[in-house]
This record gives sequence, structure tokens and C-alpha cells, in this order.
Amino acid sequence: MLFKITIDTIPRKTEIEAVFDDHWCFQSDVMVPTLMSLRVKLITYPYESECMSLGNSAKEDIPGPREYRCLKRAAAEEVDNQRYDTDDFRLQCQFVLRMMGELGMRGGEVVHLSEDWVNFEQNEIVIPSHDPCTKADDGGPCGYCKKRARSKEEHSEEISYERALRDRWEPKNEAGNRTIWFGWNDELVELIDEFLYRFNEYPHSRASVNRRITTIAEECDMVDPEDVYPHALRAHAAKNLAKDGMRVFQLKEFFGWSDVGGAMDYVEMASGDVKSELKRVYNIDRF
Ligand SMILES: [Zn+2]
Repeated sequence: MLFKITIDTIPRKTEIEAVFDDHWCFQSDVMVPTLMSLRVKLITYPYESECMSLGNSAKEDIPGPREYRCLKRAAAEEVDNQRYDTDDFRLQCQFVLRMMGELGMRGGEVVHLSEDWVNFEQNEIVIPSHDPCTKADDGGPCGYCKKRARSKEEHSEEISYERALRDRWEPKNEAGNRTIWFGWNDELVELIDEFLYRFNEYPHSRASVNRRITTIAEECDMVDPEDVYPHALRAHAAKNLAKDGMRVFQLKEFFGWSDVGGAMDYVEMASGDVKSELKRVYNIDRF
């Protein structure tokens, strides 16, 4: 028996994540063979804050140093999933966690990242202004890209759904087209190298990013899995780079924000840390 569940009374900024036999849909119309085995949960994503700055709740939920170390350890050594080879799964979990938590990448960017985006000579990820999405099983745009195209059509009178879909994948805004240098961290160089050598590109859907983050968080007793999500990880990266002395305009560039407001928040947050600033000024690396 087939049930079609259509949910149309929820606010636009709410997405529905549906699980069936571990097959996740990311759309508001969900077709499932039996209602018994469907779980639906509502997840609210702060869309605008991805374009400009990060929402306040993400700032409050930034994992602390011990918590982040615990997440890294869990991703590398503890997570498991019966459907996948353990090493592959852990590699994907580490990749998702650290691309967001240390390089501040957006979920949609991590999912569409492929070997073509990476310059291994320069240790750079170059996020393009357009890269045709072929992630769906039929070789066309993935569910996430279709959803973004639909949303663009709804918000603009000039752009049709077909046109918006042709433009996918594209960054959230023009500033999203940027270069992320990761050569400052040897672990990241190795991780990105190993991940792309093994997979060539991120092999799953946008929804899988949140699932992996939750799986990692569930292995850490010291964190509440509800508080660990892409925006909080991106905020973790921003806070740490600001704390290490990155300045407002460079932060804005690195995170692909369209204005400096978002970056200011993090610099302000880090400015209370006088010890870090002294260490930076005097170039001292000890505690
Ligand atoms: Zn896509």
C-alpha cells in the first residue's frame, strides 16, 4: 500500500527529513510503502544566516575545545554503520566534521565537493560559481539542488524553476565563490588527500551530512547531539580562526559572507581573549 504524505502547512524555512529503511528523502512530498515504518521529523534551518552571518543559536552551540576533540576522536575511532565499510564510514565522518568545523564549509559545499575543486599543489579548495550537479541516481541534479532551485523560483519572479535548476550547483551567494586554503594544517591536507583518493567526490546526499554529524555526536557523552549541527560547526571554525588572529575582512572572504557583519561578531567574541592576542603579537606558541 502506498501513502502519499503532503505537508504544506509548515513555514517555508522548515525542511522535512523523512527516514524509511535508512533511505532518507529531503522533500515535502514523501512517498513511502508503509506508514508504519516512517519517521518524520521537522528540522528548521536558518537559511538567511548562511548567506550573511551565522545565527545566534549557532554561536551558543559552538563546541568547546574538549568537546571538539571528542567529536574528532569519535569520528576517527568510534562511529560505525552496518551499511558501510567501517574505514570508509569513519573517513566520511571525519571529512564532514572537519570541513565544516575547521574550514567553515557549508553543508551544501561539502556535498558537492569533488576532486576538481581541489588544487593539491597549492592546498586549496576552489569553490566555483557554478558546477553542474550530477549527484542524483539518473545523473541529474540532486534533491538538495532541486529544492534550492524551487526556493529560488519562489523568491524571484524572473527565474523559472528550469533555469534555476540549470544553475545548480551554485554557492549561496556571490561571496560563496571563494578559495579555501588548508595548507596551514597537515592533518587536513592528509584527510582531504585520502578522502578524495578514496571517493573522488562526496558520495552521498545533503541529508547524509546531518546524519553523520549526529552519529558522531551520539558517541560523545560530553555533548548534546542536538547542539551539534552544520551551522554550529561552521561557527566553531569562525571562532577559532578569529581567536588565532584572523582579521575581519579575511574572515569574511574565508567564510564567503556577503558583508563583514558576520565576521565582526567572531572577532568581537575572540577579542576578550587577551592571552591569545598576546601570544599572537609576541608569536609565542606555548601555554
Ligand atoms: Zn546537487
